[in-house]
Amino acid sequence: MRVLSQFLTSVSDASRFPPPTLPEVAFLGRSNVGKSSVINSLLGAKIAKTSSTPGRTRAINFFEVRFQGKPRAEMIFTDLPGYGYAKLSREISSQWPSFIEPYLNDRPNLALCLALIDVNVPPQESDRRLLDFLNASGRTVLIVATKADRLSSNQLHNVMKTLAAEFPQAQVLPFSARTGTGREEVWRQIRSATGLQS
Ligand code: GDP
Repeated sequence: MRVLSQFLTSVSDASRFPPPTLPEVAFLGRSNVGKSSVINSLLGAKIAKTSSTPGRTRAINFFEVRFQGKPRAEMIFTDLPGYGYAKLSREISSQWPSFIEPYLNDRPNLALCLALIDVNVPPQESDRRLLDFLNASGRTVLIVATKADRLSSNQLHNVMKTLAAEFPQAQVLPFSARTGTGREEVWRQIRSATGLQS
């Protein structure tokens, strides 16, 4: 399946989110977790460049997603600012710009939140806070365990068990942007959450 995607807009003000017409899939994670790589891998294009594109890193970036052969876009991917850079462990809400919480709490068309966790870094306090926050907002969450290619299958198995035990409320899937591991399964979850047929 070929995906045609297009950068739509970059928003840092809750009053300027685009109209909530298509189902949205949000990508969240600590800085350097591999978020741009996951988005680029799913879309088959180097469209997300959060760390190297000035001005886009503290905003929510909206990407339209269209499947080849379809006349129009069917969903939106939203790339949220990475968290966890602050030296002191703080509330997610104090590290994040003020438009993030309204987005996660109130966006009516937000169908699925992908919470990314690097398999090489044990879950941090900021990850737990995010997961608690999403849980409290009643969001459907899929944990994507990134950079899975860096571990042996035995190590990966153990990390997946640890993540599943720590976050029982969400499904956890291993992913590697490098090898393509997990790509099809993550797409299946996205299609299911957004109401599209597989
Ligand atoms: P972001 O800051 O969360 O958007 O992260 P990036 O996508 O820019 O990736 C951060 C770093 O992790 C880069 O050096 C990537 O090359 C590396 N990386 C990302 N995905 C993978 C992966 O699947 N496997 C491996 N081995 N490295 C990865």
